[in-house]
Parts: sequence; structure tokens; C-alpha cells
Amino acid sequence: MSANKIINLVYLYLLLLLMGGGWFWEWSWWWVVYITLLLMALKILGSVFIQLNFYLISHCSIKTGERTIALTFDDGPDENNTPRLLDLLDQFGVKATFFVIGQKAKKQRALLKMIHNKGHLLGNHSYTHARFFDLFNFWRMRNELLWTHELIYRITGIKTLMFRPPYGVTTPVLARAVNRLGYISIGWSLRSLDTCRTPDKTLERLISKTQPGAIVLLHDTTTNIIDITRNYLEWLQKNQFQVVSVSQLLSMEVYEPYKTQ
Ligand SMILES: [Zn+2]
Repeated sequence: MSANKIINLVYLYLLLLLMGGGWFWEWSWWWVVYITLLLMALKILGSVFIQLNFYLISHCSIKTGERTIALTFDDGPDENNTPRLLDLLDQFGVKATFFVIGQKAKKQRALLKMIHNKGHLLGNHSYTHARFFDLFNFWRMRNELLWTHELIYRITGIKTLMFRPPYGVTTPVLARAVNRLGYISIGWSLRSLDTCRTPDKTLERLISKTQPGAIVLLHDTTTNIIDITRNYLEWLQKNQFQVVSVSQLLSMEVYEPYKTQ
């Protein structure tokens, strides 16, 4: 049972208790208002923090004593940064995971193929990554996921099961779409905040918060992503951290197996 369902049941139980208890204590509608506000606050928190698995179970890290982590890059493919990022990852012999936006991948077919051919993993990050993605209805969300899934398949021949919710926000509607399509939701345990902090501050945060088993969130669209990633990879190497793919970290198949007729 999801955390959301448990909280809904607790809410109903509290309402019944309050109303039933009205025989024994002085009844006030304010109590209903208070617990409703509390319920709403919990639902908002559950939506915003993917790690809480509130509406949807997401893989955000693993518990391990081994110094292994996975690097993920969102919001690409980016015409300028992604090719340079691929060269850099080659230099370090590192395989990463790219959560691509369908609309961008459609314009960067060669780049998408290159990511795959170099042995990195591809994940679905919606088709438009629209600002109001989380307000879309079930059918629109389902289509966003399917369009990107199909596009990746047509260009690379792989059927990725990995999906990362845009902005890391989860809702009951998104959970339904992801579960119906049988996708695996991938979150993160370390958000670099590379899109809103200076490169120095980003690197400082990455270094201070890196833990064994972490899934790290970065973006190919960040202006200084090459420098940030190079410095981070050097630090990881110096500190004996091994960078593996999300599939290796989670010990999980993330692509649909090829079906032979
Ligand atoms: Zn994103």
C-alpha cells in the first residue's frame, strides 16, 4: 500500500473519531480544518520529494558499503554539451545514464544514437517536460511517456523501461500512467542543484554529499556541466568511488528484452 493510501485512511479514521467523539467532547469544525490542512501539507510534501515514495515507488539509491555510485544526466540531448560530455565520460571510462526529453531527442537523433552506441543508458524523461506537466490528465501523461518511448526505440532499437518524472514531482495520475505502462521510476538521492548554483558551489555540494550507493542528478543543459563533471570525476577517482550505470547499481534490467518471433 502506498504512503498516500495509508495517509488517506488515517485521515478518514481521524474524521470518524472526531465526529463520533462529539458525544464526549465539545465538537468544533476547526478540528476538521486542521487535519484537512495537515493532510494537504503531507500530500504536497509527498509530491515534491520523490524519495518519499508517496504516490509512486521510485529507485533513488541503494544501501551498500561499496563505494559505487551512478551518474544521471537529465533534460538533453543538448547539441552543445552532450557531445563534449560523452568525450569526457570516455576519457574516464565511465558509463552514465541519460534521461532524455522526447522533443529534444527528435531533433538530435544522431546524438541520441551516439549516447546509446557509446554504451550509456537511455531513460525517458517525458516528451515535452512542460512546466505544467503535473497538471496533465492521465491520457496526456501516458502519451508523453509513450511518444518518447517509441522515439527512443525507433532511433536506437532499445525499449527503455526507465522513466524519471519531470522536476521529480509525482502525482496519483503520473503514478497510474507509469504503473500501467510497466515503467520503472528512477529518482535520485543526490541533487547537484547544478541548474541554480555556481560551478564551485555545485561541486562543493556534490563532494560533501556523495555516499556509497547514490544516484546523482546532473543536467546536460547546465552551462558549466563539463567542468563540473570533470572535477567531480577526478574527485571520485581520487576517493576510490566507482561510477556504474543505474542498471548495474540497482542490479536490475532496465531495457525490455528483445523479442524473437
Ligand atoms: Zn528534467
